[in-house]
Amino acid sequence: VSESLVSIVRYQPEADSVRRAVDLCRGLDRLPAGGRVFVKPNIVFWTRAVPFPKWGVVTTSRVVEAVVRLLKEHGAGQITLGEGMVLPDPKDEATPAHAFDYLGYGRLRERYGVRAVNVLRQPFQKVALGDGVELSFNREALEADFLVSLPVLKTHAQSLVSLGTKNLKGLTDIASRKKCHGPDPAQDLNFHLARLADWLPPCLTVIDGIYSLELGPSFDGRARRNDLLIASADILSADLVGAACLGFEPARVPHLALMARRRGRPTDLSDVKVAGLPVREAAVPHQYSFAYTEDGSLPLALKQMGLSGLSYRQYDLTMCTYCSALNLVIISAITRAFKGRPFDDIEILTGKVMKASPGKKHTLLVGKCIYQANKDNPDINDLKAIKGCPPSPRRVVETLRELGIEVDPYPFEHLDEVPGWFMKRYRGRPEFDESFFRID
Ligand code: SF4
Repeated sequence: VSESLVSIVRYQPEADSVRRAVDLCRGLDRLPAGGRVFVKPNIVFWTRAVPFPKWGVVTTSRVVEAVVRLLKEHGAGQITLGEGMVLPDPKDEATPAHAFDYLGYGRLRERYGVRAVNVLRQPFQKVALGDGVELSFNREALEADFLVSLPVLKTHAQSLVSLGTKNLKGLTDIASRKKCHGPDPAQDLNFHLARLADWLPPCLTVIDGIYSLELGPSFDGRARRNDLLIASADILSADLVGAACLGFEPARVPHLALMARRRGRPTDLSDVKVAGLPVREAAVPHQYSFAYTEDGSLPLALKQMGLSGLSYRQYDLTMCTYCSALNLVIISAITRAFKGRPFDDIEILTGKVMKASPGKKHTLLVGKCIYQANKDNPDINDLKAIKGCPPSPRRVVETLRELGIEVDPYPFEHLDEVPGWFMKRYRGRPEFDESFFRID
């Protein structure tokens, strides 16, 4: 009965709003007594080096704690909280431990016996998702009796939105994450995302929209205080409504449209019953990506600054997270290095499938994949490549400087400090409250 029931609730600090959202959608009806529960918050990224904006990026501990409390009240057995964060060094154990400690998960252990696990250090198991696609998921999540997906209400530069389904990507191993960004257009990121939830046990999704995020999914996006909670026992329905609340027509979000088609569901919300606030009252338009020039060769803001002699095409769906993180630093370093003189006719390519444009003086290939795709390309005059996976930040600096772009090496040498630069956007704005990420 509760399959397509979705609740939308305005978050109010003193009103037990998470309970109301879960009750309204009958989200725990299928939680088996004593069942093992796996809870997947969205932490995406963390750094120990500096305070950084978590608003709209990381699931608030307020929501995590409220959900854990409800699970216990409803008779849940062992609860495991798990996330596989994207860090410069995937073997880094100290940073996830710091994140869990900072976010108050230790308190959840003391109070409710909750275990917090770094998914990337746990066993994985392959799951066949049809059409020859296999991804490896955290085994404990696969074996759970009940799963809770706790995404943030955010946009995503590649998948348009990142909600309950996309949040499950953090349960996969690194090889699977790279596979999701494969070069075959018939099996692209959206194709993989549309299958991510195929294996789920009974599930509750609570989309944490206390803060939402434009230009997501990470700390360089623009957070808003949105005070919204969206919940459902059906992950697709939650995501369709979540997308609508971010101002997207759900049919326009490719992975949700594909997922709906696979499940024989419409995308127009006609089979979804919304309890609580109507979508039209909750929806606020959110921008998901920076504007690019009409020919897609440069971010519009750079063009408007007068930057010329450079083509830095918009990333595509094949660029995976490790390259994306560096891409952000490269763009901002080039922007700072521009002193009004045109660059020397350089094209920068990323991802796995772009092909060099003929006639450019220099072509810079960032990452192993794009090097492989272009290393024998006869259209390239002067080939410069950073061949690693992930690409070496030091090599990026050296190569850009060889090409006459005098970037500051500091951010490349201190990648863990870059997120802190974005804190100034939120200074003096009390609605951006760090205490949402702590548990007393
Ligand atoms: S080089 Fe970049 S795009 Fe290629 S697999 Fe590595 S991170 Fe992904």
